[in-house]
Amino acid sequence: KVKPRIPKPAPKLLPQVKNIVAVASGKGGVGKSTIAANLAVALARMGYNTGLLDADIYGPSIPKMFQTEDARPLLRKVDGKDKIIPVEKYGVKILSIGYFVNPEDALVWRGAMATNALRQLIADGDWGELDYLLIDLPPGTSDIHLTAVQTISITGAVIVSTPQDVALADARKGISMFTSDKINVPVLGLVENMSWFTPAELPDNKYYIFGEGGCRRLADELKTKLLGQIPIVQSIREGGDKGEPSALNPDTITGKAFTELAQTVV
Ligand code: ADP
Repeated sequence: KVKPRIPKPAPKLLPQVKNIVAVASGKGGVGKSTIAANLAVALARMGYNTGLLDADIYGPSIPKMFQTEDARPLLRKVDGKDKIIPVEKYGVKILSIGYFVNPEDALVWRGAMATNALRQLIADGDWGELDYLLIDLPPGTSDIHLTAVQTISITGAVIVSTPQDVALADARKGISMFTSDKINVPVLGLVENMSWFTPAELPDNKYYIFGEGGCRRLADELKTKLLGQIPIVQSIREGGDKGEPSALNPDTITGKAFTELAQTVV
């Protein structure tokens, strides 16, 4: 008679990483990568060993947001295995598919190629000891999300949305994906981005361009937290475009807002 084989527990991937935080959004263009980049810089400035994995395989924007588009990570042998050395910028260890392939080539990848690439960035990255590894997930719900949760144990997810109804409806779907039995990742809370606009010449005025209070209502309804609100600020967009995240300057209003946001996830 054949003895039943007792499966060995899978070795924990990334045992030297204390917390893995996924940054997700229901739809694209709400500022998920901007929030992920600024959170990573803010955490690094607060003294935490921080990594950032750009898992937005089909639209990687982290290389640009850190002005590292030309970086080509090197390999190094660790215990006889080739490991990918993350690119380091502003104290953050970064890996993105954008460092390896032309984003237009990745656009036509089939699901399996994309999920394999992500698995490699996670498992073969020479992340070393980290307090926080942030994962900038693609928008929506996809195979990439499944791969991420199946490959590593995610501590929690931060959901980014604008206060607009269409964005909130998608954020709700994103939250129910994380809390579903299949995925079962705790949601740390919502970040409302593009909450209001204040013109320089009217510093006491707030214009709620995408509606007011949308994320607060959704957070209350779903019994999760509203971690913070980030207004629409020209310098946030400019910082993203020139590869200098606003969180690098914690003395500015926007830099301070990102530091406060980072304090809610530690
Ligand atoms: P996503 O990752 O959700 O697709 P991005 O982070 O790429 O979105 O942001 C989309 C665009 O909006 C970028 O040009 C970014 O600089 C800009 N942006 C994001 N958040 C803000 C903000 N709070 N104020 C001004 N511009 C912003």
